[in-house]
Amino acid sequence: MAARADNAPEKAHAEDYLDRNAEAVALLSDSVFYFGELGMQEFETSELMASLLEEGGFKVERGIAGFPTGFCATFGSGGPVVAIHTEYDANPDNSQRSGALEPAAIVEGAPGHCEGHNCNAAVMVAAALAAKSAMAARGLKGTLKIFGAPAEEQLVSRPYFVRDGWFDDVDVALAPHIGSEFACGHGLVQSALISAVFTFHGETAHAGVAPWKGRDALDAVVLMDVGMAEHREHMLPFTQCQRVITNGGDQPNVIPKTAAIWWYFRASRAEGAMAVYERAKKIAEGAALMTNTTYTVDTQSAVWPVRGNQTLAELAQAEFSRVGAPRWSEDEHAFARGLQAKANVKATGLATEVAIAKGPATQKSAANDAGDVSWKVPMAKIYFPSNVPGIAYHHWAAGAALATSIAHKGAVAGAKVVANAALECFRDPGVVARAKETFARELAGEKWFSMLPADQKAPVELNRRTMEAFRPAMREHYLKERPRFQ
Ligand SMILES: [Zn+2]
Repeated sequence: MAARADNAPEKAHAEDYLDRNAEAVALLSDSVFYFGELGMQEFETSELMASLLEEGGFKVERGIAGFPTGFCATFGSGGPVVAIHTEYDANPDNSQRSGALEPAAIVEGAPGHCEGHNCNAAVMVAAALAAKSAMAARGLKGTLKIFGAPAEEQLVSRPYFVRDGWFDDVDVALAPHIGSEFACGHGLVQSALISAVFTFHGETAHAGVAPWKGRDALDAVVLMDVGMAEHREHMLPFTQCQRVITNGGDQPNVIPKTAAIWWYFRASRAEGAMAVYERAKKIAEGAALMTNTTYTVDTQSAVWPVRGNQTLAELAQAEFSRVGAPRWSEDEHAFARGLQAKANVKATGLATEVAIAKGPATQKSAANDAGDVSWKVPMAKIYFPSNVPGIAYHHWAAGAALATSIAHKGAVAGAKVVANAALECFRDPGVVARAKETFARELAGEKWFSMLPADQKAPVELNRRTMEAFRPAMREHYLKERPRFQ
């Protein structure tokens, strides 16, 4: 299996393109790292990605499905249609200087990349440009569609893309994501999640003088939280709910007329997440009744559990073997071991082997907004080795390697795998046909539907204020040089 198509000239072309453009790949990855933009606010990031694709010969549609920082870039025509999609958002309060072996913010309190989505952006754009170059040079037929997917950290954009028909004509999809080694599972890989903000509405009053005149929205939030806490005992196994109170009123001498609580409902299957969500609405109704308030709910996102298609997973595995793990220097291993020691995990250094997965994946409780895509079309979520093994994301240590040679080498290797996998679908349409066959068996009659309300709009205000507050200081750290692919 590993030897399949090993001498494919299209792949040699793409790999050569990526080796030649390794510096541009690194610069793109680092540029996005320093942009450090939160979900829905990835204006610098998405514009850089979209314009690089445009300059590389793709036709770009910006602002798709109502997402100002989303885009779709297309090259070629006719079938098969191969999509590559990924995310490029950062995390709040995760500013971390790359290369530092201790917590060290670039800008104190600012957002930053601590999950490597900057590398995702570089891998997708580089893979797209390399595959396009090979398609043009070798006269391969088909359509390559590149989707920029905002706000993965809030699980937002792709369910909207799928609901609004952006994947209707796609045959297969590839979703690169940073990891610490090459990996691609099949079966159910991640969990379903519904993200919903419950806002309670009451009436203000002077809290000291006439509290009996008020209707307290914060009381309702607290009671909903208590109700959900009681309900937790009765939830099915592998079901979870988490929340933060996003509005608890302004000051104690005014009874709050508005208060809000933001919930994530997770389950192994879409219907499980919907069941908890429906129960939560009942509990919110009860809380409103008890406090003489009303409530509204904003379903910001609702994603299906990511599934991996077996045919595409095997295709990715073959490309992992072909490309091989990056060759790390002793300095890179030493940096990795130093970071692992600081993060209290096993100091194993970097992964030097390609592990070939056997059998279906173990489903994780984490979710990703790529889930809906993976029920609409056969999909492979492809992890590439740009991070240090054992380091957990959203922690300072996960930002420490993201603009180093470790991230850069992993991104070039990742882009080779993704470009090659796409090229394999163009050179051998049998792959696409087989992926569709196995996909139909995997779904076993279950049909995707959008869990989003039909009129739900992209949450464009998400993270706007935080980003506006930090951007001026972060801008000082933007890289001056622009990546050039040739
Ligand atoms: Zn991620």
